[in-house]
Amino acid sequence: MALSSMYLFLVIFLFTDFLRGDTIEKKVPILCYHRFGTEASDAMTIKTDAFAQQLAWLKSNGYTVVSLESAIKYLKGETESIPSKSVVLTVDDGHKSVYAHMAPLVIKYRIPVTLFIYPSAISNAKYAMTWEQLRELEATTFFRVESHTYWHPHFKQEKKKLSSSEYAKFVDRQLRGARQILEEKMGHEVTYLAWAFGIYDDELEAKAIHAGYSAALTIDDRHATPKDSMMAIPRYMIVSKYDIKAFGKIINKDRRRK
Ligand SMILES: [Zn+2]
Repeated sequence: MALSSMYLFLVIFLFTDFLRGDTIEKKVPILCYHRFGTEASDAMTIKTDAFAQQLAWLKSNGYTVVSLESAIKYLKGETESIPSKSVVLTVDDGHKSVYAHMAPLVIKYRIPVTLFIYPSAISNAKYAMTWEQLRELEATTFFRVESHTYWHPHFKQEKKKLSSSEYAKFVDRQLRGARQILEEKMGHEVTYLAWAFGIYDDELEAKAIHAGYSAALTIDDRHATPKDSMMAIPRYMIVSKYDIKAFGKIINKDRRRK
């Protein structure tokens, strides 16, 4: 008797685990890169060779690089499913090494990449890409430009310096202003935002929605799940100290056993 009820428990346990595995398992690692180069000159510059190794690792470990849009649609419950081993690649700041070092590999692997751009730097700062280069990258169909605020302000510091009405206007200019110029320059809708310095709070989330964004991303170092606020979707910042083992550990971190 005791034994048969134990079996029953086991069956129920395995069955609910199976159901749970089917519905909850899709946690998506969204990666955030910054710069690339022949040398890892600082924490945020990934050696081009190391990046190539990461792409090869993803491929040989059965990961599919999906577009940020497909991942967000899945997280919002707008699409039923994405591949169970999905990963998303994003790059912040529009550094020129994205054009020179990253793009050839992205084109070789034919994977989607989202670029979070703050327009004040484009065709202006020495380190940044030009509008022409961004358009050229989008023309490959592998790249998509979205917003990273207008000039990458530190919202916490600005909040301390400005009166509350000045701050409200400032935030609106940074969020809405960036969308407007990016849409004008790129010729398509811009509705995703990456928080500058990963700084966000409830007030900023509300303002982002008001400014027309449908999703915003942080650098909170977790896999994204449908339970996350769509205005604070976590990403992993990929830094140069990660070897391929550390990289694999991050990607596989939240995977349930199958
Ligand atoms: Zn940034």
